[in-house]
Amino acid sequence: MTFATLGLIEPLLRALETLGYQTPTPVQAQAIPAVLAGRDLMAAAQTGTGKTAGFALPLLQLLTMEGPKVAANSARALILCPTRELAEQVHASVAEYAQHLPLTTYAVYGGVSINPQMMKLRKGVDILVATPGRLIDLFRQNALKLNQLQTLVLDEADRMLDLGFSEELANIYRMLPKKRQTLLFSATFSDDIRLLAGQMLNDPLSIEVSPRNVAANTVKQWVVPVDKKRKPELFVHLMRKGRWKQVLVFAKTRNGVDALVDKLQGLGINADGIHGDKPQATRQRALDRFKTSEVQILVATDVAARGLDIEDLPLVVNFDLPIVAEDYIHRIGRTGRAGNTGEAISLVCADEVNMLSAIEMLTRQTLTRKMEADFEPEHRVPDTDASGQVVKKPKKPKKPKASGGGGKRNLGKWVDSGDVAPAEPSIKPVRKVPVFNTGPSKKK
Ligand code: AMP
Repeated sequence: MTFATLGLIEPLLRALETLGYQTPTPVQAQAIPAVLAGRDLMAAAQTGTGKTAGFALPLLQLLTMEGPKVAANSARALILCPTRELAEQVHASVAEYAQHLPLTTYAVYGGVSINPQMMKLRKGVDILVATPGRLIDLFRQNALKLNQLQTLVLDEADRMLDLGFSEELANIYRMLPKKRQTLLFSATFSDDIRLLAGQMLNDPLSIEVSPRNVAANTVKQWVVPVDKKRKPELFVHLMRKGRWKQVLVFAKTRNGVDALVDKLQGLGINADGIHGDKPQATRQRALDRFKTSEVQILVATDVAARGLDIEDLPLVVNFDLPIVAEDYIHRIGRTGRAGNTGEAISLVCADEVNMLSAIEMLTRQTLTRKMEADFEPEHRVPDTDASGQVVKKPKKPKKPKASGGGGKRNLGKWVDSGDVAPAEPSIKPVRKVPVFNTGPSKKK
């Protein structure tokens, strides 16, 4: 199959040729004809599957074929993204695909001044990429009208809900024209996403593609059990031992990112961090320097890393496991792309065992554990497997202490292993649900 057989027009084919795309990915093969035919879409696909081109190419074609110019302060197609990084990345891709078309594209997001965005929207844009909050601000300030909107794309819809944008989405829904085409992309389909899809979509075509990296098994994944407090030390040890050159490291929180970057920089290691608290320009600079290998170690939160498009990353390290199991797939999707092999190493401490179990259940595999000499944890990480069970090994039965007197051994009852308290009594029972974040938060 080729892009030409999917019915794409010549200016798009020319752009794809320049970009070196030869064969449509599975999500593109399914989405492109459906979108061209005007269908609504509910697609289970995530970063790395080629989903952006899957919706952007037919969207650009439809807008080109229809011809009429966009009105002032209007947009004909809207792509909603959860984060600035993703909005920027999607916009960059759309602009590349549109390079030979007479269409205008633009991205708007928060964290930067709204005025230039308002100015830019005056003439109207054919395709607007936006984060939900900034879109609403622009709408309320009359900088944007949506009555000319004909297509809405919800990109990474699950992430938008995770980030607490459900109210914003409900508001946007009320701003939209009733007659429109809607395309929803999500890595996962929770009940909330299905509810959203039920409201927003009209007789959608469902498409599902498995995450490329997990399915293709091109990523070598393993876990190193370690005590929480020794993680930074272990990271540096592994880095030196493995002579790591370019590593993307994931930490759970903004503070975690800062603490690790400080620690590494203190040791003279060329590290930088990105998270939601840092200004957009700083994040972009860190990313650019990482891409050109000026920065060796880039530490990121899941949210900040969304949309980072770094080709051929050899190694991803989970300094902390993600709170949401699906994020593990997103994280390791940064490596082993396009048939290359990659490595994903997770440093796991005892209180992350439930997260590990949820990841193994979601990815249907038991991750190999490799103990690192001198870093064996004092707080044991209980065994886990893909069934979602945390196996709590009983303590080795101890001989009861001799009660003294005459050097005689107390041959009292050996403790039956079934009666013994689990080795990690602090570990809560594992939940069967792979996602275990407790509530929405705007930022991480
Ligand atoms: P996405 O899943 O949309 O984030 O795309 C992941 C990466 O795959 C991006 O770097 C795209 O440029 C690239 N890509 C998308 N479609 C194709 C294709 N058909 N052939 C080669 N590369 C592609």
